[in-house]
Amino acid sequence: NVLVTSRMFGKLNPEPIKLLFDKGFDILDNPFHGKTHSENELLGLVQKADAAICGDDYFSKRVIKKAKNLKILSKYGVGVDRINIEAATKQGIVIANAPGSNKHAVADLAFTLMLSVARKLREAENVVQNGGWRVVIGRELYNKTLGIIGFGEIGREVAKRAKGFNVKIVVYDPYVEATVVKDMGVELVGIDKLLSQSDFVSLHLPSLPATKKFIDKHKLSLMKETAYLINTARGDIVDEEALLDALLDKKISGAALDTLAIEPPINNNLNELNNVIVTPHIGAHTYEANYIMGMMAAQNVVDVLEG
Ligand code: NAD
Repeated sequence: NVLVTSRMFGKLNPEPIKLLFDKGFDILDNPFHGKTHSENELLGLVQKADAAICGDDYFSKRVIKKAKNLKILSKYGVGVDRINIEAATKQGIVIANAPGSNKHAVADLAFTLMLSVARKLREAENVVQNGGWRVVIGRELYNKTLGIIGFGEIGREVAKRAKGFNVKIVVYDPYVEATVVKDMGVELVGIDKLLSQSDFVSLHLPSLPATKKFIDKHKLSLMKETAYLINTARGDIVDEEALLDALLDKKISGAALDTLAIEPPINNNLNELNNVIVTPHIGAHTYEANYIMGMMAAQNVVDVLEG
């Protein structure tokens, strides 16, 4: 019994579902219901599951405790920050994800956001939508410095794209291998140097207990007044109150955020600012990435259930 709680698994392409059916597995729950499950719903659903393919649902300690038969939690994507890893590991549940599956999708979006916020696309579009026609002055990427925080699959794809824009790339990642940095031709720097030098700061580190509110008031104060913050990683990596203050006080020029600390947002004022672009966590959602995430998530289930 494979419980599918991801909203997108098999939705755009039936092949991942076919892979599970061909192996003789049953699918529990309707993968097309189109919403995130509540904890109470999950408590009921997990009891009969031998495997689960999850999206952005919270697999809390309570949910995992109820999942007596569960052998694998297969993430339809990369970030596993909504799974209580400690509780799952204690119960012998394998946690798998789909590394690199959405790196092109997210790197493309990071660039889309960088260009959009620098050219004030939101403001420009508002002008036309309100019947106007006037100049909106933006900034170029050419010859600027891009700071990439977290130099894994996505961070490296962002760096590859940045080279085409003739952008200087500085990187902060305490765990990246020296050979990767050398091969990619980027400069590894300390976090303070990255923040004070960069015209664009793009976040590609995971959400972990140690990285919650990683971008705080102090770090924002190190950024240039002309700089932009781009977040396609996780909302809780940024102290949103501090970001709002930095934007209102013009300590930085703008921000583009694909993720927020609470999704969907509740009383979040960031989206009201003209120099902020918020997208509804669409980073991984291209046709191409959905196919790869689906196939990898399904294969991970097959591998574990078949031993
Ligand atoms: P990855 O594991 O390949 O790379 C993460 C990198 O961050 C690693 O190189 C790691 O060494 C580094 N890192 C860890 N702790 C750090 C710290 N404290 N400071 C700086 N760097 C640190 O993952 P990825 O595929 O590149 O994805 C990165 C993150 O992007 C994911 O964890 C996920 O949260 C997010 N993501 C978002 C979307 C979206 O829809 N917006 C989609 C996919 C991934």
